[in-house]
Amino acid sequence: MIVAIYPGSFDPITFGHLDIIERGCKMFEQVIVAVLRNPNKIPLFTVEQRIEQIRYSTQHLSNVEIASFEGLTVNYARMRQAKVLLRGLRVLTDFEMELQMAHTNKSLMGEIETVFLATSNEYSFLSSSVVKEIAKFGGCVEHLVPKHVAVDIDRCYRKLS
Ligand code: ADP
Repeated sequence: MIVAIYPGSFDPITFGHLDIIERGCKMFEQVIVAVLRNPNKIPLFTVEQRIEQIRYSTQHLSNVEIASFEGLTVNYARMRQAKVLLRGLRVLTDFEMELQMAHTNKSLMGEIETVFLATSNEYSFLSSSVVKEIAKFGGCVEHLVPKHVAVDIDRCYRKLS
């Protein structure tokens, strides 16, 4: 059984992330979407809120698990007996960073393989940061994130303003 980990911030999950998760679920027996607990970043949503958002967005998938982790991704992969790291590629700059990360992870854990999925065309511009930027200025993000996430974002920015 091949277990893949899809690590990221998911602050919040977008249709771009969801597309990678859905496609990953067709390729691997189990996909663990792992939210990184990063003390160096101030997120919009807490890890618990992000886990809930992802859980709700992936209800239709039977082989997905949502979790959180801190520290090195390879240590988490080892603990979960995962041999694959799933990552998405949007633009050239993603590739440079992702390739460096894949080589770093390989140097730390020889048996780990990073599998890159090219973004679907319609999501190539989409990132959590883009969503937050649009929402911050009152723009509509309903075509970019699942409905319940759009509601959470709206509530969040209304509270902040
Ligand atoms: P973001 O860059 O959106 O803040 P994350 O750190 O949560 O994202 O990203 C986790 C992974 O998902 C990364 O490999 C990233 O390249 C990928 N990803 C994010 N958005 C997209 C998208 N629109 N299409 C394909 N992959 C994506």
